[in-house]
Amino acid sequence: MMNDFMIDVDNIRKDFPILGREVYGKPLVYLDNAATTQKPQCVIDCISDAYRNVNANVHRGIHFLSQEATDMMEAARENVRSFIGAGSTEEIIFTRGTTESINLLASSFSAAFLKEGDEVLISGMEHHSNIVPWQIQARRYGFRIKVVPVTDTGELDMNAFHSLLNVRTRLVSITHVSNVLGTVNPMSEIIREAHSKGIPVAVDGAQSVPHISVDVRELGADFYAFSGHKIYGPTGIGVLYGRKELLEKMPPYQGGGEMIRRVTFEGTTYNDLPFKFEAGTPDYIGSIALSSALDYVRGIGLDKIAGYESELCSYAVRRLGEIQGIRFIGKAPERCGVVSFMVRDIHPSDIGTLLDRLGIAVRTGHHCAEPLMDRFSIPGTVRASFAFYNTFSDIDTLVNGLERVIGMF
Ligand code: PLP
Repeated sequence: MMNDFMIDVDNIRKDFPILGREVYGKPLVYLDNAATTQKPQCVIDCISDAYRNVNANVHRGIHFLSQEATDMMEAARENVRSFIGAGSTEEIIFTRGTTESINLLASSFSAAFLKEGDEVLISGMEHHSNIVPWQIQARRYGFRIKVVPVTDTGELDMNAFHSLLNVRTRLVSITHVSNVLGTVNPMSEIIREAHSKGIPVAVDGAQSVPHISVDVRELGADFYAFSGHKIYGPTGIGVLYGRKELLEKMPPYQGGGEMIRRVTFEGTTYNDLPFKFEAGTPDYIGSIALSSALDYVRGIGLDKIAGYESELCSYAVRRLGEIQGIRFIGKAPERCGVVSFMVRDIHPSDIGTLLDRLGIAVRTGHHCAEPLMDRFSIPGTVRASFAFYNTFSDIDTLVNGLERVIGMF
């Protein structure tokens, strides 16, 4: 059935074999898309076709298969480049995912640019993967981490942001979309303000790239990280975009095969971008399958996806709002993908466990954002997160399930 956004959800669902599954004898209602998305048949086929027909190690073989696999991996890099609007494939580094992208960034950026007395500005709504890598490097290089506070509605306190930016700030590293609150942060304003003071900005795009059209050059981001598995691609592959001018000044993150130009026992010179940051055998099958996931998403259209998911989100907020005792965590007007809540004083994991028995998969807990839980003085939330294959009826099932679960307490 078509909706206002011309997304044919019934047909789209047929592309995702797992959505036909039952759990505990109930049809699966999958509302844990912020944790990972399901895979369309074309991505599953792409992985098995690649292993069946073209598997060979890339970049180092002169034989036919190795060259074909290399060409496919490099075509995937070009596809990622165009998907996020980067200027050059030299700026697209394949990683294991957002976590590895930010660890790479924190390690290499700190080595190149940070020293005692410097500051890195993050926010109070970061995932642990945009906190802990900075803490590890801060201990090593002696810089300080400053945190932009989060308001009661779950937005960044932009007045505090402006006053925290100062002559010691060397980098701003902030999430585009919160994985807990769903808040879409005002990235253009953040980047404009930081750049006006000569400060580069890194963006955690794990929760934005799957939902909204991102153009890194239009946005002005200096670094942008995301995970393949959250955008209908396979696990184990992700991307770090970085501006060439900065990447060139940063040392390698890991040493090994392929990241070198020449190795002697006296010393080593490094390969060009992006290979300098891709030590060892890369997950080339993952890159190729990620590319097919991006084609799939492009085929539907990110504008349509954003419109439809925004309707789903609004409907979820309206329907869930009818439940007695519900408290939403995160009420930003600009939001996407995620609705987090508590019901009375019922522990989120009790709600999640009981919903699971009804075939409804939601995420409960701190969502790898413990400082944010502390900010709201809560142990965790129940989080429903959406993809374009979810339906309004999935949300009705969630609401009915919740009514049943709450009735048990
Ligand atoms: N950043 C945000 C905002 C996230 O939501 C996540 C995962 O949920 C990550 C980073 C880490 O992503 P990954 O586990 O794929 O590396």
